[in-house]
Amino acid sequence: MSKIKIFDTTLRDGEQSPGVNLNKAEKLEIAKQLERYGVDILEAGFPASSKGDFEAVKLIADTIQDTSVTGLARTRKEDIDIAWDALKGSAEPRLHLFLATSPIHMEYKLKMTPEEVLNTSVEMVKYARQKFPQVEWSAEDATRSDWDFLVQIIEDVINAGATVINIPDTTGYTTPGEYGSLFQYLRDHVSNIDKVSLSSHCHDDLGMAVANSIAAVENGATQVEGSINGIGERAGNASLEEVAVALKVRSDYYKYSTRLKLEETKRTSDLVAKLTGMYVQANKAIVGRNAFAHESGIHQDGMLKNKQTYEIMTPEMVGMNSDSLFMGKHSGRHAFGDKLKEFGMELNQDELKEAFKQFKLLTDRKKEVTDDDLYTIVMEIKTDTSAISKYELESFQVQYGTTNIPTATVALKNPSGKQVEAACTGQGSVEALYETLDELIEEDLHLIDYQINSVGGGKDALAESHVQLKINGEPVNGRGSAQDVIEASANAFLNAVNRYLINQNTKSKKEVVK
Ligand SMILES: [Zn+2]
Repeated sequence: MSKIKIFDTTLRDGEQSPGVNLNKAEKLEIAKQLERYGVDILEAGFPASSKGDFEAVKLIADTIQDTSVTGLARTRKEDIDIAWDALKGSAEPRLHLFLATSPIHMEYKLKMTPEEVLNTSVEMVKYARQKFPQVEWSAEDATRSDWDFLVQIIEDVINAGATVINIPDTTGYTTPGEYGSLFQYLRDHVSNIDKVSLSSHCHDDLGMAVANSIAAVENGATQVEGSINGIGERAGNASLEEVAVALKVRSDYYKYSTRLKLEETKRTSDLVAKLTGMYVQANKAIVGRNAFAHESGIHQDGMLKNKQTYEIMTPEMVGMNSDSLFMGKHSGRHAFGDKLKEFGMELNQDELKEAFKQFKLLTDRKKEVTDDDLYTIVMEIKTDTSAISKYELESFQVQYGTTNIPTATVALKNPSGKQVEAACTGQGSVEALYETLDELIEEDLHLIDYQINSVGGGKDALAESHVQLKINGEPVNGRGSAQDVIEASANAFLNAVNRYLINQNTKSKKEVVK
């Protein structure tokens, strides 16, 4: 079995999903989980794109030990210098440089001749190698590039010191047969190709990102790039969990494996969904709620007689339905601490105290507290912005009935510490609540998207809400949880506003690439 390296770009390409805007603490939690999951390389961001991105990449590079951390850079000295400052503290500093090679990108976007693209790439790879031991070079829009031009430029950047060559299908245009042939062609024609790792990077515009990635592996790719849950621009990237599980389940056919600890799959998927607000559809392969549910009578009958009649893999393999002890009213601090260790969560004394307090409050209202509930509580604390909250919810009341006009009354503490109050009506309870919050908050607010989900099942499940707002013209998302749906909705709304106010200085407009 040859080992395929997994290169995760959830925090870079994935974070470019419309409406996704993670803060530093959230990015760090995802990075830690990716390290536990066993990804070989994680792309933490694009350091030169904004101060916020720089800080997040630096924090991750300085913290993560078992996974190589990389950052994206354009073929410019200043980008490479900034990336070095962010990444130099990592265990194995690694840079990801890219430049487009397709005729349409070179002519219209870059306004550069193929010769200029070649020379710039060679020069910047050389420059980057003076600092970074590992330099990946990507031919943006490779799948719409001239194959012989690719052969030439790849040969030259390898001579200049590139250690990884990435062949992105930037627009999600290629097919498995074509992409596989391209890898084979490069291996046959680039004379020094054996000196580097060859990497795939696929987008899912035609629904073929995973199939294309595996076709690349069958034709000599030794690294696969993608994201958790396949999030990313437009239709997203290749889902790494699907690639890894396909190689595992069909190990009779594919002779490749990954280092991923597959039993961490579900937890990784849940964390990314929770923090980005991009939930996976119920029928999503591997991690969807229904991925292992058998509904029809014939299937259920078969399963009862022999599970393998309809089951090609077990839910336990990917960490679904793992038997877990519920925690309840009588669970003590010790059991609680052990549970958190099981999640791989490290909490400091203050965080632990706060988490335990929240847990006890929840047990007053909920008979059985599930792993999902605990995870939600702890993630709220680990990624909380309340310590630096600008607006704080003091109290609220919403009146709703089929015969009267929904009305909300809200009291907030505003950024200057003053308590402000208002009451408004709306067509429904959430609208009345949001109208009132809008009235009390000075920024220009527009609600773009609103979601409400339950954490786990049962009548007493926690509610989790995600909102996307446009604040002074800028999209910002927020999330909040509570036992009541209206309270969760209020928390999510205020979370978005607070995030906007906090991020204003650190996050300039995201530069969208690749
Ligand atoms: Zn991409």
